Amino acid sequence: MHHTPLRLEPGRLDARAEARRAQVRRFLDEARAAGQFEPSCDCWVKGFSRAFSRSAGAAGLLGITWPRAFGGQEGSPLERFVVIEELLAAGAPVGAHWIAERQMGPSILRFGNDRQKAEILPRIARGELVMAAGYSEPDVGSDLASVKTRAERVEGGWRLTGTKVWTTQGHHADYMFVLCRTAREEDRHAGLSILIVQLPAEGVRIRPILLLTGEHHFNEVSMDGVFVPDAMVLGQVNDGWNIISSELVHERSGPERFMSTFPLLVELVRQAQATPQDARALVAVGELVARLRALRNMSISIATALEQGQVPQVEAALVKDLGTRFEGDVAETARLLFPALPSLHSADLYARYLAQSVMHAPAFTLRGGANEVLRGIVARGLGMR
Ligand SMILES: Cc1cc2nc3c(=O)[nH]c(=O)nc-3n(C[C@H](O)[C@H](O)[C@H](O)COP(=O)(O)OP(=O)(O)OC[C@H]3O[C@@H](n4cnc5c(N)ncnc54)[C@H](O)[C@@H]3O)c2cc1C
Repeated sequence: MHHTPLRLEPGRLDARAEARRAQVRRFLDEARAAGQFEPSCDCWVKGFSRAFSRSAGAAGLLGITWPRAFGGQEGSPLERFVVIEELLAAGAPVGAHWIAERQMGPSILRFGNDRQKAEILPRIARGELVMAAGYSEPDVGSDLASVKTRAERVEGGWRLTGTKVWTTQGHHADYMFVLCRTAREEDRHAGLSILIVQLPAEGVRIRPILLLTGEHHFNEVSMDGVFVPDAMVLGQVNDGWNIISSELVHERSGPERFMSTFPLLVELVRQAQATPQDARALVAVGELVARLRALRNMSISIATALEQGQVPQVEAALVKDLGTRFEGDVAETARLLFPALPSLHSADLYARYLAQSVMHAPAFTLRGGANEVLRGIVARGLGMR
């Protein structure tokens, strides 16, 4: 059997990237001092504040790698990595800009037309836009190539009809990327396109799907003959599969795939420090910290590969699989080692973070692509399947 090695070259955060750390920490200190946010676990989904996102944009923390012409700073993926890890470590409410800045912005930059770049990118970099990914459907998740939402050709554009589910922040979104079928082809991966729907739009109905906690983060979005002008097709018609494949590398490889429960881990370390006689706790927490370190190194290595213009799809899938299992293990270890009455409203940070982590954990290995499917991608990439 032919084995293809994984390319996870050791990467190092250079001085320019480390300089960002001081910048983002200053920004976070000021935001905390001004009472702008209450930290939380899973803050990139749970924490939503348009005001916070605007201030992050004003502080130059968004669109760091993009060209200046579109509101960026022409910085490196490693600089962006540092900003992201600091925001997540602080449990900051970054949900309003997260998806747009992470994946829609880079996709528009790579595939978008001049109008999309000029109209949308600077507003993402200013933290003004909420964007949603309309990919999954009621019967379509892992196997995205079988989407049933379709767009019919009409004068000047397309008419979209279909239903999307699990659309994170769809109820807040200013724009939604919709993966749809624009042609019937033998090859299921051909004939798909991405249309950008500006919201609210006539014919779009958005209904909440509540989490275990009762929180409203995602939705069911139905579209009934929604008109999308030609200018809002992303890239070439029928090239949607190529676009979405490149977008998913950005979606899967970042520190949010292993840092969703980081605030709980910090509290767990504090608990272990307070009971140094409990060797079992020290070993368990030490193992978690060591795993975090390894995951961080792998993620830095992917950011370095992106910087060199590579598309490390297999490595990104691997980090997401290992990282999201780690996030869940933090919650489970905490629950077993230092039981507390978990409550979303507890004044005790440990109990509050524990509740947030345990109740958000079922989503960790599913969102962004189920882990079992990612393992298939890794196996194929390594030439084992
Ligand atoms: C919190 C959260 C937010 C989300 N946000 C969005 C969003 O904003 N936009 C969006 O479009 N989607 C979103 N999703 C949907 C997410 O992308 C899907 O849940 C995911 O792709 C899995 O699809 P599914 O739920 O239909 O599960 P299915 O594909 O039905 O899979 C069910 C089970 O079968 C297993 N399975 C399926 N196929 C295989 C295979 N080939 N090999 C081995 N095992 C397999 C899976 O691993 C899984 O355990 C979100 C999901 C969550 C949990």
